[in-house]
Amino acid sequence: MTTVAELRERLSEARADAATHGRAEPPIAFVPTMGALHDGHLALVRRAKQLGGSVVVSIFVNPLQFGAGEDLDRYPRTLEADLSALDAEGVDHVFVPSVEEMYPAGAPTTRVTAGPVGSLFEGAARPGHFDGMLTVVAKLVNIVQPTVALFGQKDAQQVFLVRRMVADLNLPLRVEAVPTVREADGLALSSRNRYLGANERRAARTLSLALEAAESAADGGVDRAVAAGQSAIMGETLAKLDYLVVVDPASFQPVGDDFRGTALVIVAAVVGGTRLIDNAAIQLT
Ligand code: AMP
Repeated sequence: MTTVAELRERLSEARADAATHGRAEPPIAFVPTMGALHDGHLALVRRAKQLGGSVVVSIFVNPLQFGAGEDLDRYPRTLEADLSALDAEGVDHVFVPSVEEMYPAGAPTTRVTAGPVGSLFEGAARPGHFDGMLTVVAKLVNIVQPTVALFGQKDAQQVFLVRRMVADLNLPLRVEAVPTVREADGLALSSRNRYLGANERRAARTLSLALEAAESAADGGVDRAVAAGQSAIMGETLAKLDYLVVVDPASFQPVGDDFRGTALVIVAAVVGGTRLIDNAAIQLT
């Protein structure tokens, strides 16, 4: 567990050591998280390890990406268990900055804006969320200076916007998306799943079932896929559908019924007060 200064020092020591021994600089793979780690996070860590360099994991519950009335205060914090899980995975550096360390002058006046896609879907439900997320990712990337940063495909709009920021601002790193890790019944792992009571947990399965329904109906085109997915969720009384939309992965804009190729079905629903999201690729031929 390290602070900003300690992390910078350790990473520059590793770089200097490589230079002294005439070795190429080891790649640094970076996994940003908000902690309360589960197997989804660990899949990112394992992929990062496979890349062969050093692995940095950050744990930071970023106040900037939570709106008023959201779950910032009750967001699960399980630092000891997180640190032992990361130790067991052989992570080189765990970076756990405090809010004061990340924002010494209070909320930053300079921020990244996510642009038009930032106010769609998750951004419509959570105004300012993506600006806050991109701002902290930019700060973390500047601190860690990784070769590659890994993100979960589960948060598809987040991956899209991070890739866009990296391209738009010429950030010198590669972004890699890691497939979604699921429970046996299909529910995508999420730190927020622990908010679900037993009945809600059963109802939460409706999101992945809706994605399957959309996928099965994709032969009939986009409109049929959307209708099949939406009616799967509307059949579950404990779930309140926010959106189920088919988007073009290249633009994250909704596609028309004439779209052909690989598209992304994205879904959000509130189950017993907990907002859940999921997505899956579908083929439209
Ligand atoms: P979070 O701690 O929720 O900010 O998530 C940190 C990273 O883990 C993000 O890149 C998420 O997309 C990723 N992640 C969360 N859940 C999963 C999952 N079920 N499968 C794969 N990646 C995930």
